[in-house]
Amino acid sequence: MGSITMNIIEARNIKYKYPDGTIALNNINFSVIKGDIVALVGPNGAGKSTLFLHFNGIFTPTEGEILIDEEKLSYDKKSLIKARQKVGIVFQNPDEQLFAPTVEEDVAFGPLNLGKSLDEVTNIVEESLKKVNMEGFEKRPPHHLSGGEKKRIAIAGILAMNPEIMILDEPTAGLDPKGASQILQLLYNLNKEGITIVISTHDVDLVPIYSKRLIVINNGTIVKEGTPQEVFADIDIIRSSNLRLPRIGHLAEVLNKEDNFKLGEEYYPLTISQARRDILNKFNI
Ligand code: ADP
Repeated sequence: MGSITMNIIEARNIKYKYPDGTIALNNINFSVIKGDIVALVGPNGAGKSTLFLHFNGIFTPTEGEILIDEEKLSYDKKSLIKARQKVGIVFQNPDEQLFAPTVEEDVAFGPLNLGKSLDEVTNIVEESLKKVNMEGFEKRPPHHLSGGEKKRIAIAGILAMNPEIMILDEPTAGLDPKGASQILQLLYNLNKEGITIVISTHDVDLVPIYSKRLIVINNGTIVKEGTPQEVFADIDIIRSSNLRLPRIGHLAEVLNKEDNFKLGEEYYPLTISQARRDILNKFNI
């Protein structure tokens, strides 16, 4: 306990079978180190949402176990309350998360339930809205906000619980490019403040900029994990998981193969800044 490399959450040999018999997860082993920012990628139906719902005990695994802070999760009421405070899950669709008539009531709900005083809750709401850049929206009804704003309020509601880890199911889905990049920047800042972040996403262009570790899931099984460099180098896995290279890597591939513009065999930059650095170096600019 307390070591720098402790696993903040872990899934051990998780199998999950829906009541209709669908096996959504098949022997999943998955762990996240405290302080990390990790992205889970994979096609629709791979099992991302099902896996996430295990991490605060919304789903009970059919087989296997979940550990939080290296402690096995049990499913009695007290343990579940503790797990839900430590592990905040932001659903893909904010309309499933936001329910109060005003933004401030929504964000206040969690801390009020934890038994905080009204004064404390007022401070927590203010702080949480500040962190997501949504001050001034206190009295607004959540259902009248834009997709990106709703997402930020949903994140504020989770932050108000002071979680150690935040798990976000496709946080950029349905947002415009600016909204998507604002959300990822926000997650990056929260991570710097010490919150461990796990996201699922299809956005292969944005992921390498923000996450140090990528995990690929397909058909309820983890098929690859490593740094973005390691994962995107495995083109077969990328293709069979309905993913693609980041656009900048694809450009390098086309230049290499079709224009004989040799940046190096199998050279796939993952971000524009990496490509810029490598090209300037290569051509001594
Ligand atoms: P992802 O989040 O990666 O898109 P899901 O976790 O939603 O994947 O789904 C994993 C698998 O479980 C899919 O085959 C999906 O059809 C199935 N599934 C999801 N929800 C249910 C449900 N309520 N009942 C039966 N099968 C489901």
